[in-house]
Amino acid sequence: MPHSLLQSDVPLAPYSTYKIGGPARLFAVARTLDDLKVLSSYANENQIPILVIGRGSNCLFDDRGFDGLVIQNKIDGVKYTDDTVEVGAGINFSLLGAQTARKGFSGLEFASGIPGSVGGAVFMNAGAGGREVKDALISATVLDQNGTIQTLRNEDFKFAYRNSILHESQAIVINALFALTLSENAREKQLDLLTYRLRTQPYRDKSAGCVFRNPANASAGALIEKSGLKGTRIGDAEISTVHANFIINRGNAKASDILALLDLIETTVYEKYQIRLVREVRSIPYRPLISSI
Ligand SMILES: Cc1cc2nc3c(=O)[nH]c(=O)nc-3n(C[C@H](O)[C@H](O)[C@H](O)COP(=O)(O)OP(=O)(O)OC[C@H]3O[C@@H](n4cnc5c(N)ncnc54)[C@H](O)[C@@H]3O)c2cc1C
Repeated sequence: MPHSLLQSDVPLAPYSTYKIGGPARLFAVARTLDDLKVLSSYANENQIPILVIGRGSNCLFDDRGFDGLVIQNKIDGVKYTDDTVEVGAGINFSLLGAQTARKGFSGLEFASGIPGSVGGAVFMNAGAGGREVKDALISATVLDQNGTIQTLRNEDFKFAYRNSILHESQAIVINALFALTLSENAREKQLDLLTYRLRTQPYRDKSAGCVFRNPANASAGALIEKSGLKGTRIGDAEISTVHANFIINRGNAKASDILALLDLIETTVYEKYQIRLVREVRSIPYRPLISSI
């Protein structure tokens, strides 16, 4: 057993931007590929469900926690060439967006302000301002369930709106290679995107960003707002008055409060507009099926 890496009964709230969640039965930080390999083979041999997280900015942990092993991916490393950057999956995606733009590189300006890790961004095909990971990623290296390391090309990820093959495959992203081009206005573009975000989102509140994907040709936020739900509160969870597609934790919200608001939004928007909203936030069940996370 990889004793030195494992801790028991670790509260998950500090590892989520919602600041919500009970304890993980087991918890570990992976700083290297070797850490990841040891931890995942230990969990697989003992049939313990694994959840890999980055910065917990798109996860809603259960109030009871997680009955398995949570691995926080903190694999770092940043390597530039003339037209690429290769980064560890634990690198902060938002800071990477700002750093590349400051160096005069275009390609990842949209990442600035997305408060996740590179691994979480690849998993989610994160995006903003009309661009997403799919538009910038050349390839990424993953550790699959059999312990094999593979480099997958962009097209292998089958990227779609806030979706990738990783939602089904259980593979863990280790690092990613992004394309960059030199540009004189990269920094200006990145700062404009950030300013717009700070003006239109409750950015400093505890949230997981947009909770629903936008339906085709519509805005989830606008539908929620037109349904009269802005400001609706259950417990300490509130539909933001700034941006209706954000649910924020006003203090001591529980996962059950957030889930109740998600249900309320889905029902109300369906009744009014016959549109079924699809959740972007990932609710992590307390006891998952081994292959379902
Ligand atoms: C204020 C705010 C603003 C936001 N704005 C945006 C936005 O503009 N655009 C956008 O797309 N998102 C946005 N988000 C959501 C979130 O930041 C992104 O989805 C981000 O990509 C999640 O990264 P993470 O590391 O926090 O992932 P986590 O929340 O830790 O995990 C999310 C999912 O990814 C999986 N995962 C994480 N790391 C790995 C890995 N290394 N390998 C395999 N799977 C992994 C997890 O298992 C989980 O299923 C916002 C969130 C907040 C709080």
